[in-house]
Amino acid sequence: MTAFRTLDQADVKDKRVLVRLDLNVPTENGKVTDVTRIERAAPTITELADKGAKVILLSHFGRPKEGPEPKFSLEPVAKAVSEVIGRPVAFASDCVGEVAEAAVAKLAPGDILCLENTRFYKDEEKNTPAFVDKLAALGDVWVNDAFSAAHRAHASTEGLGHKLPAYAGRSMQAELEALGKALEQPKRPVAAVVGGAKISGKLDLLGNLLDKVDVLIIGGGMANTFLAAAGKPVGKSLCETDLIPTAQEIVDKANRAGKQILLPVDAVVAEKFEANAPSKVVGVDEVGPTEMILDVGPRSIEHVVSELERLKTLLWNGPFGAFEIAPFDTGTVEIAEAAAELSAAGKLVTVAGGGDTVAALNHAGAADRFTYISTAGGAFLEWLEGKALPGVEILKVK
Ligand code: AMP
Repeated sequence: MTAFRTLDQADVKDKRVLVRLDLNVPTENGKVTDVTRIERAAPTITELADKGAKVILLSHFGRPKEGPEPKFSLEPVAKAVSEVIGRPVAFASDCVGEVAEAAVAKLAPGDILCLENTRFYKDEEKNTPAFVDKLAALGDVWVNDAFSAAHRAHASTEGLGHKLPAYAGRSMQAELEALGKALEQPKRPVAAVVGGAKISGKLDLLGNLLDKVDVLIIGGGMANTFLAAAGKPVGKSLCETDLIPTAQEIVDKANRAGKQILLPVDAVVAEKFEANAPSKVVGVDEVGPTEMILDVGPRSIEHVVSELERLKTLLWNGPFGAFEIAPFDTGTVEIAEAAAELSAAGKLVTVAGGGDTVAALNHAGAADRFTYISTAGGAFLEWLEGKALPGVEILKVK
């Protein structure tokens, strides 16, 4: 893995440090309703302030269409940042130009200033050189602490790295280190759980994981297409018939490479997709024409759990069944619990993220025992697909 620069190498004392965060937090009536992202950003902000930097926060917020819109102002978010870190955070009503320059000029070492939403300028997303120059004029150093925005090459997420000395913030560093441990240099054997609704949309992900892991554990609706490819009856289950040949190709590729694909051997089936619909456990050869597979069965759970005991690293994306409705959450909950226990005992490195996965693992009560949970969404999935993330590439030591 190419090393990237962190705050350990940064000389920030008395410097103006532009810090790109992801402050795109949920709000309701102008009040922040979930401060998780702010809590993750807090160590970078306070460390820089404590080292005597003039800390200047940059972020996007929502998707404003035509320039400044009051409902997308970062002002209430700046207040929430101040509350979380317990220090004053000044606010400037523009992210470039005279207003921003005047606010930056007032900063003393250790002060913190939040600039207005970078997406109030279309040039942010276009990464226009002239706009990057305007942002760069406000700082001496750039710190990127927004992994979740790193799949976009925007002015504040990538452009600045061409103009100023660039460093990863602490939460970016934690994310890159955890992801590196899971996929670049994992302890083997390493497996990936790929679950969720459909194969379409996860083809690149399956392809990349198949190259890198020893075992692919398939769950959720997407397993049905693999079962159909193996000639099993899937009744009325969610199944992407047009992708049956693709599923077969994935299996053939795995066989050629000597990799293992673990598919369900039994299933929980129901005739209706609703909470507490009458259900039963059947073998994957016995799914009836009017039945739907909504979860993996107990033998499949046992199968996966005994596999986990042999593994050293597990990557997890997607639930094993329709986990939002009881009792079809059982497979996800029991397998997550087993992974969490092994992880807490130091026997398994567990890294999870993307889409509904965080919700599913929270629902299972397992998330806090996983080694690392990525809340990055799109960026995490692109990383799983093996794509280079521009906001990370720019931090690498060439
Ligand atoms: P994804 O966003 O691709 O990770 O998919 C998550 C969704 O897949 C959740 O909403 C689950 O309810 C759904 N899901 C998982 N297993 C099944 C299944 N067997 N049948 C239908 N939906 C499923």
